[in-house]
Amino acid sequence: MSQQPNQDPKPILINGEWVSGAAESFDSINPANGKVNYRLPIATQAQVDAAAAAAKAAAAQPAWRNMLPHARAQLLMRMADLIVEHGDEFARLQMQENGKVWAECKAQAASAASTFRYYAAVCETLGSEVTPSRGNYLSMTAYEPYGVVAAITPWNSPLTMEAQKVAPALAAGNAVILKPSEVTPSPALLLGKIGLEAGLPPGILNVLTGDGAVTGKALVQHRDVRMVSFTGGTATGRSIGMIAAERLIPVALELGGKSPHIVFEDANLEAAVENIMGGIFEGSGQSCVAGSRLFVQRSVHDKLLDLLVKRASAIKVDQPEAAGAQMGPIASFMHRDRIEQFVATAKAEGGQIALGGKRPDGAQYENGAYFLPTIITGLNNQATAVREEIFGPVLCVLPFDDEADLIAQANDSVYGLASGIWTANYQRAWRVARALETGLVWINTYKQLSISTPFGGFKDSGLGREKGIGGLRLYQQSKGIYWSM
Ligand code: NAD
Repeated sequence: MSQQPNQDPKPILINGEWVSGAAESFDSINPANGKVNYRLPIATQAQVDAAAAAAKAAAAQPAWRNMLPHARAQLLMRMADLIVEHGDEFARLQMQENGKVWAECKAQAASAASTFRYYAAVCETLGSEVTPSRGNYLSMTAYEPYGVVAAITPWNSPLTMEAQKVAPALAAGNAVILKPSEVTPSPALLLGKIGLEAGLPPGILNVLTGDGAVTGKALVQHRDVRMVSFTGGTATGRSIGMIAAERLIPVALELGGKSPHIVFEDANLEAAVENIMGGIFEGSGQSCVAGSRLFVQRSVHDKLLDLLVKRASAIKVDQPEAAGAQMGPIASFMHRDRIEQFVATAKAEGGQIALGGKRPDGAQYENGAYFLPTIITGLNNQATAVREEIFGPVLCVLPFDDEADLIAQANDSVYGLASGIWTANYQRAWRVARALETGLVWINTYKQLSISTPFGGFKDSGLGREKGIGGLRLYQQSKGIYWSM
């Protein structure tokens, strides 16, 4: 891993000012070549205090608190326009930090802009409610912001996750302190810059970089933070949830997954293969909804496996900006090591490597965190690689006999984020969709996502739902008002 000489850390955003200087800093590393992109500060307790004080004061300003929904929506629309304008810059920052291929990074910038537009529209149309009369009084439900929201995000799709939190939290009238992952800190800083350009009052959107255990934890514990919206690993989510329970503040937790992707014998296998590939190898499998457990009905198991191996061996693994690249590196060297360890454990537990299972050969991969698309067979549902979230391009293929066997295996997981079903039998599709313990189910498609549909997990995959109209309500508390007539 070659590194560049140290640079000064990038400044962070507190109360509308770009602030330099912190006790410690960290490097953002390009996983495609091991070079240092930027140096960033680990925001200190004093900086967390300053951001929280600024956010609290800004959220309480009548100009922000009582802003008409139309004006708030216009601010969000301006942010959407600026995200589009800076689309290439966002894409480049993400590509340099998590190694996703250029086309995917560009698509995520466009989708972040749509998220801001969607919440601008929801903000303008969502109102309070007058409830049916039960006496000589009027009763109303009004919705009010929490005040200061901490938004803590992961590295796999940084801008997407940040837009999904910041847009509805602002639409709901809160001030936000955004703490991006230490692997992908830069898109959040650019979002903060855009917020200022769009005209957000100082203190309404603050961006602090830093370690989860230092800056992130200090935020969750801060007395002025009244709500935490977190996306990341289940273990981190659980520790944040425990602090929030102690503090009696609400949390939204979007956590890990080990999603079953299911193919029945009557499925359109060609279409299924296409979607299985996208479901696990897009973004090098670093997706919370990755279809990482593939259950195939025994009668078509070998045929489907052949098709998959053929298609997956043709995936172009390359530098993320290379023309035609379909898979870039893993987001960090440490994470690539972790994936390798999972594959070694799978082999030790009796798994057979049908494809990949190692780093690619070739000079262009030498300094990067690359790993080949990997398909493993011969494991049962109890194997480590089948039970644990690998968060990489590793697909475990398991046969099943009938519907009852399938449902038992698919639901035998601590996770419950997403699932996919391939079948021509619509009654079966419905039965299985209702029986699966997951927050999302795709039927004859996979990874199709819409900002208007609630997103979130059952079981250890999370708590609360982002997206949709409820995604704005997540950032508000209701107030019942009774008015004697
Ligand atoms: P992570 O849990 O390690 O970190 C996520 C964020 O939490 C980072 O910003 C990190 O700095 C911060 N953090 C870490 N420890 C903290 C603490 N003690 N207090 C406060 N903040 C802390 O996750 P990751 O490795 O960045 O992301 C990968 C995980 O995210 C996977 O498990 C994936 O499934 C999950 N994910 C879930 C969704 C979803 O919507 N369900 C979406 C994307 C990713």
